[in-house]
Amino acid sequence: MNPVALITGASRGIGRAITLELGGIGYDLVINFVSNQEAAVQTRNDAVQRAAQNGKTIRAEICQADISRGEDRARLVDFTREKFKRLGLLVNNAGIAPAVRADILEASESSFDQLMAVNLKGPYFLTQLAAKWMIAQRQQDAKLQPKIVTINSISAYTASVNRGDYCISKAGLAMMTKLFAARLAEHGITVYEIRPGVVATDMTTPVKEKYDRLIAEGLTPIKRWGQPEDVAKAVVAIALDLLPFSTGEVINVDGGFHLAIL
Ligand code: NAP
Repeated sequence: MNPVALITGASRGIGRAITLELGGIGYDLVINFVSNQEAAVQTRNDAVQRAAQNGKTIRAEICQADISRGEDRARLVDFTREKFKRLGLLVNNAGIAPAVRADILEASESSFDQLMAVNLKGPYFLTQLAAKWMIAQRQQDAKLQPKIVTINSISAYTASVNRGDYCISKAGLAMMTKLFAARLAEHGITVYEIRPGVVATDMTTPVKEKYDRLIAEGLTPIKRWGQPEDVAKAVVAIALDLLPFSTGEVINVDGGFHLAIL
């Protein structure tokens, strides 16, 4: 029986790459999206194909749900339970940037509320739901090693004064990782956080020229854009159980951005 992964925001960008890589190593998949069904269907088809190329047979199901809404989060977990009856890996990936990058002296309360709801409250309470189910599964089978991975950001510790709401939501996620890691270790559930740097997706398309210039000027020791697959490979390492004695760990996938170099 294949292990099962639930990936939020799996239709596009980093979530899509994670989904394809997990399919490629034989995970059954729950592919969550919020509005772009066509992209979700494409991801599902590509993941099944990737698995087949690797000699694996997987099942992949699509579930629309807005992770900022409590009833949607419950429906997403119920969907996973109904379709697969088990969950081995939760990947909290879905996230949004502010609709406009506004200086913190001007930025709106509505943008703050939206970013907090999607980027922080959503993963926090989805993790709560998934963790309780994982604990119950493990009581049935102590050999299971469930895992939770959150796709955070260098914005967890980097001040960008034109998107303070985004930075604060990501700083909150860093504490979320520590909290759930501390709480779930006794249940054999490990919790990880991945911090991508600048990654080429729809999210960064509007600021492409700015980052092209910054990268050329040496923003990152590894002088290139990150690709969604760079992040996905870190998730695969976790999914393959290659970090069994680590929890609450931060994995930087940022071309060395986090190094403070003098
Ligand atoms: P993206 O290309 O904009 O894709 C966002 C994904 O999240 C889409 O699949 C979207 O679904 C989904 N989504 C958005 N709001 C949602 C909601 N309320 N409920 C469920 N799904 C929702 O973004 P990305 O660049 O891949 O970013 C993925 C994660 O990585 C985010 O948490 C982001 O903060 C983080 N990150 C990105 C970068 C970067 O440089 N790109 C760097 C560091 C961290 P639809 O297709 O249905 O819209």
